[in-house]
Amino acid sequence: MPVDILTVEDLYFRYNSSDVLSGISFSIKKGDYIGLVGPNGSGKTTLIKAILGLLKPYSGRIILFGDDIGAFSRWDKVGYLPQHIAALNPRFPATVSEVVAMGLLSKKQFPKHMNRSDHARVDNVLDLLDMKRHKNAPVGELSGGQQQRVLVARAIVNDPEFLIVDEPTDALDPEMRDRFFEIMQSLNKQKQVAIVIVTHDTGNIGRYTSKLLYVDKKIIFYGSFEDFCKSREITQFFGEFAQHVICHRHNQNIDCSSGDHGTD
Ligand code: ADP
Repeated sequence: MPVDILTVEDLYFRYNSSDVLSGISFSIKKGDYIGLVGPNGSGKTTLIKAILGLLKPYSGRIILFGDDIGAFSRWDKVGYLPQHIAALNPRFPATVSEVVAMGLLSKKQFPKHMNRSDHARVDNVLDLLDMKRHKNAPVGELSGGQQQRVLVARAIVNDPEFLIVDEPTDALDPEMRDRFFEIMQSLNKQKQVAIVIVTHDTGNIGRYTSKLLYVDKKIIFYGSFEDFCKSREITQFFGEFAQHVICHRHNQNIDCSSGDHGTD
């Protein structure tokens, strides 16, 4: 049986007394690759922030790697890739390799010095993202797409077992977007990293992920794409068209045929 990485039990979250998340229960296992989707304002970001321990739920439990989130300390096992470049602060006076190295700090005791193997890891991950030649460049001087690659490098340099990714692909050029999904795929398949990707791109997410978590303040669906696409309740809930938009890419992926891109 795959190990539980995350268990969420009957989670409620409110801002100013109105429920944004209610009765949320699900679990994520080693090797899962999950697309988290839902309309704007459906609570996806709130759920992610709660899982990262940044927001305290009104009630319910979040258990990470077997520990209640309040007692969880192994944040080095968790990688987070934020959506916005702003999270990096482009004026931050650091080089590319220094920013990536920050991803290693949570594993270290004081004093947090970098050793030779740390430098090698930073170099390897920059190489993987075709950014090694920029390693000494100040991050503020890079293009938006290059800065996004630095964030990807920082999120994966630590070899996380659980990776949470907040819709990074807008800032990436199409070639890097494909490269990004290849890297995610190989982390998931070869290292069994559990990945959650928050996305609006419902038409494409089925090409990459194996499960769908559809949230609209509560869980509308959690399970495999096959089950989502076959479900009559889902057809009734979404209508055939919306279900088709989510499903056709995934089916095409299975059938290996091609077609046009779906959108929101
Ligand atoms: P999503 O990421 O799916 O777009 P969010 O989790 O950002 O959804 O937001 C869920 C709901 O909570 C929305 O109605 C949003 O307006 C509201 N909300 C988000 N952040 C705050 C906040 N800091 N204070 C009050 N309401 C908020």
